[in-house]
Amino acid sequence: MIQNEDIFKAIISHSKEYGFIFPSSEIYDGLSAVYDYGQYGVELKNNIKTYWWKAMAQMHENIVGIDAAIFMHPTVWKASGHVDAFSDPLIDNKDSKKRYRADVLIEDYIAKIEEKINKEVTKAAKRFGADFDESMFLQTNGRIAEYRKKIEDISNRMNRALNENDFEDIRQLIIDLEIVCPVSGSRNWTDVRQFNLMFATQMGAAADGASQVYLRPETAQGIFVNYLNVQKTGRVKPPFGIAQIGKAFRNEIVARQFIFRMREFEQMEMQYFVRPGEELTWYEYWKEQRMKWHLSLGIPAEKYRFHNHEKLAHYANAAADIEFAFPFGFKELEGIHSRTDFDLSAHQQYSGKKLQYFDQELNESYVPYVVETSIGVDRMFLAILSHAYQEEKLEDGSERVVLRIPPMLAPVKAAVLPLVKKDGLPEKAREIMDILKQDHMCQYDEKDAIGRRYRRQDAIGTPYCITVDHQTLEDNCVTIRERDSMRQDRIAIEKLPQIISDKVKMKF
Ligand code: ATP
Repeated sequence: MIQNEDIFKAIISHSKEYGFIFPSSEIYDGLSAVYDYGQYGVELKNNIKTYWWKAMAQMHENIVGIDAAIFMHPTVWKASGHVDAFSDPLIDNKDSKKRYRADVLIEDYIAKIEEKINKEVTKAAKRFGADFDESMFLQTNGRIAEYRKKIEDISNRMNRALNENDFEDIRQLIIDLEIVCPVSGSRNWTDVRQFNLMFATQMGAAADGASQVYLRPETAQGIFVNYLNVQKTGRVKPPFGIAQIGKAFRNEIVARQFIFRMREFEQMEMQYFVRPGEELTWYEYWKEQRMKWHLSLGIPAEKYRFHNHEKLAHYANAAADIEFAFPFGFKELEGIHSRTDFDLSAHQQYSGKKLQYFDQELNESYVPYVVETSIGVDRMFLAILSHAYQEEKLEDGSERVVLRIPPMLAPVKAAVLPLVKKDGLPEKAREIMDILKQDHMCQYDEKDAIGRRYRRQDAIGTPYCITVDHQTLEDNCVTIRERDSMRQDRIAIEKLPQIISDKVKMKF
């Protein structure tokens, strides 16, 4: 755990040191849970978005994209349920004056019990050595059974209380579990209150009757309110999807864990409109498709897992998260939800406009059902970065930090490096740079010894370094060094574009 915490800290400082992520308005000491993407961060982020966009809108002939405005008519959020129900239960500690999400305090408590189970397993594995049968141990060990029962009891009680808005019992659960404030160490808690997460602002001058508008807390509603426009103009019929990438805003109570939970973030969402009754088949289809998308990045499967929701949101009839092994544990990266006809029906009711499809094959009209896939760009960024970041000891005893970013997402695809700053090598290197930059983001670097330049490129995850030396002037060949293996090969300049393109091509 400690080790992972250290790695997480190292990732955060590496992100800043190498221009991936800066705290927002840093010269004014930052703004809580708001971050800016730097020169390499923006490239990686754009590549993640392109990879998603292509997988959705390009690879599926029946998915089209839109780009809706952040501001929407205020009634949208009434219809969607966000005005009344988009809130978290919060609790304050009277001594430290710190505010917490009540459910998160309880979940952290559960995570501690899970840690204890893991410790028991590690201990037993050491004791039994090669004979250790983990699944047998988990099934038969008495202490583990007790821990598991405790987790189940706590979860059941919390879920019931959350479902029924029984805030008194949530508070009582925190007291019964003797949860203390991590800052003050005391159990001096206030009551639990609901806190709406939407940011509100005024549109128009007060004199002309300004109206309250919200910064959208999810991009999905921009898709629902455009359902009819797209269906009428896009020559689409169910099943079909609408995809969108855009900013969303939530006034998160507990904003921590770097870009995992931000107050301004970006979502990539796709709503898939299907015939009523077919939604659960499509739900399974999209669960599988989305997991495939993650795995095609080459990140090992054991870093991902599904978490099926038992407690469903009021609009869903099935829901699952794809969780990722972040340095602070398995946490939600993406949600796949079968949202029934809740949203379209609500907008139909509030707007008075018919949001239906006449299905000629069935000879009937219906409000389509919706299966959505929803992933945070920033969380995906953090998943990639935390998987990619590695501190390595090399054979010669030196160390390097390397970002093993999947080459198709790497901010810079190739660096062109003249061995020395004279003898015509820079000119030759510039010629190569001019060819390669037509197709890829490349970097030219002639400063410092070649070893240091390699390290700089490793630290930002550049898959290839191309070195131009004196021999190059005679045989038109360069040394190409691969980031992960550090293998170096001598190849003809004319082969470079193809080699790099093959390596960084987006595959689905
Ligand atoms: P959580 O339970 O972690 O708050 P959520 O269930 O509220 O997440 P959704 O409303 O399903 O999240 O949003 C879909 C996706 O948007 C999430 O899977 C996540 O990747 C991303 N996301 C949600 N909230 C944030 C946030 N505050 N910062 C960054 N990404 C977020």
